Amino acid sequence: MSKIDRRDFINGSLMLLGSSVMPDGSAIAQNLEDLSNSSYPPALNGLRGSHPGSNESAHKKAWTGNNDWGRRNLLDEEYDLVVVGGGISGLASAYFFSQQHGSDKKILIIENHDDFGGHARRNEHVVDGKMILGEGGSESFEYPSGFSNVVLKLLHELGVDMEAFKSAYDRNFFKKHGLGAVTYFNERYFGEDKIVRHPFCDYPGFIEGLLRPKIDINEAVEQVPLNTEGKRQLLKLLTSNPSTLGIEKSQWRRYVREVSYFDYMRDTLGVIDPLIHRMARQSIVDYGGVPDVMTINGALEGGALGMNAATWKEVLDDGAYQNYLDRKDGTYAVEEPFIEHYPDGNATIARMLVKKLIPNVGKGDNVEEIILSKFNYHQLDKKNSNVRLRLNSTAINIEHETDASNSDYVYTDYIKNETSYRVKSKNVILACYNMMIPHIVNNLPQDQYQELMKLTKIPLQYSTIGLRNWRAVKEAGIGMAMSPGNMHQAVNMDFPTSMGGYEYTNSPNDPCILHMRCCLQGDTHGAPAIQQFKEARYRMLAKKFSDYEAEIREHLTGMLPRNYFNFDRDVASITVNRWAHGYSYGKVSEIGIRPFGKIAIANSDASGSSLMNRAIEEAWRAVKELS
Ligand SMILES: Cc1cc2nc3c(=O)[nH]c(=O)nc-3n(C[C@H](O)[C@H](O)[C@H](O)COP(=O)(O)OP(=O)(O)OC[C@H]3O[C@@H](n4cnc5c(N)ncnc54)[C@H](O)[C@@H]3O)c2cc1C
Repeated sequence: MSKIDRRDFINGSLMLLGSSVMPDGSAIAQNLEDLSNSSYPPALNGLRGSHPGSNESAHKKAWTGNNDWGRRNLLDEEYDLVVVGGGISGLASAYFFSQQHGSDKKILIIENHDDFGGHARRNEHVVDGKMILGEGGSESFEYPSGFSNVVLKLLHELGVDMEAFKSAYDRNFFKKHGLGAVTYFNERYFGEDKIVRHPFCDYPGFIEGLLRPKIDINEAVEQVPLNTEGKRQLLKLLTSNPSTLGIEKSQWRRYVREVSYFDYMRDTLGVIDPLIHRMARQSIVDYGGVPDVMTINGALEGGALGMNAATWKEVLDDGAYQNYLDRKDGTYAVEEPFIEHYPDGNATIARMLVKKLIPNVGKGDNVEEIILSKFNYHQLDKKNSNVRLRLNSTAINIEHETDASNSDYVYTDYIKNETSYRVKSKNVILACYNMMIPHIVNNLPQDQYQELMKLTKIPLQYSTIGLRNWRAVKEAGIGMAMSPGNMHQAVNMDFPTSMGGYEYTNSPNDPCILHMRCCLQGDTHGAPAIQQFKEARYRMLAKKFSDYEAEIREHLTGMLPRNYFNFDRDVASITVNRWAHGYSYGKVSEIGIRPFGKIAIANSDASGSSLMNRAIEEAWRAVKELS
């Protein structure tokens, strides 16, 4: 197999940014100058997300309870606040603390990855000299109409202009290029490589402006590479509605919340073809569940195979599902579309928080102005800064100097480059994964310890692929391809947003990023979700980059038209963002997140919800608890 040697290329050379200009029209020359810096994590390709080297110390601590870290170096540094976790919640905690207590307060943020932002991660690809942006994780604001005043105020202070998204997002992009929601059936499982121009599920509906299928469901099922009986079963599932439950109408709502989607499919509808089960399992992507142990209601909310919100409306709770709008133009449109999207996703929010905390990190005074600004990572941890952000550092032990109830100080021990360090602070905010807290906080009360031990995280993977051109994608008419036979459950063109001088691709002859996404499930079908997440996580972490590259090669080569696509010629770079600990799963009670002495707990996990706005709200609560 030939290699994409560009994949490990660190983009240290000068590059062209096309015709892009910064909003003030001035900064291009400076930007180009800045790009000569080679220590720049957003431009790294290969295995990213929880990259190798980021989680070994945490696993050693959590899995083996290791306490032997060699000689500890007591640093001559004292802080008002140490924040563990450099995701949006940790960064927002530092921002709020500084706002509440004064910008002269000394703050240290400790982050185990080589980049900040947590799940809000910027992916840069340089394809034939052109820099293209994508998101390695957190993508868009979700349902901003429900954002609290705390969140809206912070976003305002960062320079977010909600109105700007309306023109920045090109909702005609997909229509203009004939890109729709399709399903790719691969040869390995379905006997032939085939695209059917229907997604058979509601998942693609969140992409505003994507073309809806034009063929009706009977015609679409006829084209699916299943045998005659399989097609009959698939059609039965796809045309199901509450009356097919076979029970009294008064029982529908209760029933869909109690009965499993797979039991209903198998036992009530008689859908037993394993290939249809495969399609069903693969149809839940971002909603953080395992379809074979999900209720019918869960499958409905996740837009799973055959679970059409329009026909099942009667059993859904108000607001549980996006309301589809019929714009009569053949495109997907929902009441609250996901258009609040920056070219690098919510990484822009993380980057702007860093810019506020450490002004020298780069140019730009608001979210739009920083989109093309290459941050100087050497500025993150400067001795003379009031706020310091220390990367590649994993907190492994946190303890009060004396008894938690009257201690003036907290010690935080962390590992960086296999060396142990200790810093002293007056306060600590734990904005890390909440499931890590019982492993690293000393003398945590038993009830709190037990509560936090219940938590887990859902593994997710977003791979971004730098394509030299997307002629093959256009030829195949793919805006999003559900992919029931592949590791990546869906492949899509990114949200078409141009902002801050960054131009989204407009011609199929130009480079672009293709997104490939999956929410990994376990191998033991029907096992409890937590077990399946664990199995999937271990499988994910055991794979090498070459495994992912082989999978992506097979996927794209099978899916895209052969006379338009050649993997070795057309794929310039691959970034596999593995989030072994992705979405929050489960919610702890107040006991789990209550402050402990001088230590408060943040992170979106504390709210039991994986959303950017919740990460910010939990930061606000944690800072207030320390006041
Ligand atoms: C693939 C993906 C897509 C998503 N898409 C969206 C979206 O579109 N919209 C949305 O609102 N939300 C989305 N989310 C949810 C996302 O989790 C939140 O938006 C938000 O970024 C969470 O921020 P956080 O700071 O609470 O947690 P995190 O981003 O998880 O940050 C916590 C940080 O703490 C670090 N850490 C953990 N333990 C330690 C330790 N011991 N020492 C040092 N550091 C430690 C972690 O490595 C991490 O960097 C997505 C999540 C994923 C995984």
